[in-house]
Amino acid sequence: MNVRLRFLGGAQTVTGSRYLLEVDDFKILIDCGMFQGLKELRLKNWSGFPVDPKTIDAVILTHAHIDHTGYLPKLFKEGYRGTVYCTSATRELTEIMLLDSAKLQEEEAEYAFKKGYSKHEKPLPLYTTEDANFTFSYLRGYQYNESIDIHPKIKIKFHDAGHILGSAITEIFVQGDKMSKKIVFSGDIGKYNKPILRNPSIIKEADILLIESTYGNKETPSVKEAYENFADIINKSIERKGCLLIPAFAVGRTQTLLYYLKQLIDQRKIPKVPVFIDSPMGISVTSLFKRHSNFHTINTNGSEDIFDFDGLHYYRNQSESVAINNIKNSAIIISSSGMCNGGRILHHLYHRLPRPNDTLLFVGYQSEGTRGRKLLDGDSTSRIFGEEVQVKCHLEQVSGLSAHADRAELFKWLGNFKSAPKMTFIVHGEPEVSKQFSNSIQNKLGWNSTVPNYMEVFELFKGI
Ligand SMILES: [Zn+2]
Repeated sequence: MNVRLRFLGGAQTVTGSRYLLEVDDFKILIDCGMFQGLKELRLKNWSGFPVDPKTIDAVILTHAHIDHTGYLPKLFKEGYRGTVYCTSATRELTEIMLLDSAKLQEEEAEYAFKKGYSKHEKPLPLYTTEDANFTFSYLRGYQYNESIDIHPKIKIKFHDAGHILGSAITEIFVQGDKMSKKIVFSGDIGKYNKPILRNPSIIKEADILLIESTYGNKETPSVKEAYENFADIINKSIERKGCLLIPAFAVGRTQTLLYYLKQLIDQRKIPKVPVFIDSPMGISVTSLFKRHSNFHTINTNGSEDIFDFDGLHYYRNQSESVAINNIKNSAIIISSSGMCNGGRILHHLYHRLPRPNDTLLFVGYQSEGTRGRKLLDGDSTSRIFGEEVQVKCHLEQVSGLSAHADRAELFKWLGNFKSAPKMTFIVHGEPEVSKQFSNSIQNKLGWNSTVPNYMEVFELFKGI
């Protein structure tokens, strides 16, 4: 038996995660991400999948984030018809995320058509709501630690990655004719000692390991420090009588923020100010957490809404959303997308960026090429709805609230391994970051590691 790995994305970039594992002629796609950020990356979404989707036998999702799932409806459009394996929480979250992604693309195509800025006569969305809905019946959800047969010779197992609800480190066990091998995909790995989610699960061995490296060259503050910083920034923003705008994805990150805000208010570390969740799907997801109680650490038995508090408002429709623009002071607004590249956040940025008393706070990773990253890097204007909008507001960042483990935490996780994998592939990081992380793995642990290129192919095992 021969095993081969192809990097179809998520290599020297944090976006478009997709890895093709070929066990003889059985093809497994691990993650099916959409490319976001830099234009040269986004164009990859349009050029057709690099391998004929009809020839793929199984898809595995490590978690629901769009850069790991967002290409799925397009994969089905191009002919994939197999099962999509994931955890049961990921299954439900992925449905929400893909519907949102489809809606966003429909809106963007519509907008480009109206404004006439597309080169195409009738700009088309990458996929529609209908395409997204079509994929859902192929998704199968499982529990952590469940042994799942995806082929007579191949089993997989999900373990808690502590990154977002349902996120999984995935083990793939291949039974060869002579020996068995284990390939581990870290997926995105969460921080340690945080509320709501568990620490990343301990994995002790792998023949081949793929590890993310988003913060592979950086140490971020602990959750405790980040929590204090967060309170500080909120208080300063209120003292300035401005509004605090936080870009965050509506499901997952927003709940973490609400959990912190609830605590900060209860502990009287911040005053009671109105908090607006502005998202068409900015729904209370308490029921989602209740249905998937194995996937987090919150007690959901009570009748109380675990993410609700006095002064919290969910705004779902457009007119409510527009009304938020009139609020001049002392409010917190949370809206998506988290990297400011689309969605309702654009309207808020359009109104808030020029206001010197307002604050824009980043709490998540901002990929290269996204509007969020450009703002963080100090751009003095931002082009929104065809206009150059002046950036006059305060800009803040709390990196310790990110859903990603930092360098020290990645090493802590690697420290659980009893022996070195035959090869460790460094993925899901910007080129320089992945290289630095790879070097430190070689220096600190003495392991074989490499940073794969886009489309690179590796023969993992021959004649096993
Ligand atoms: Zn992620």
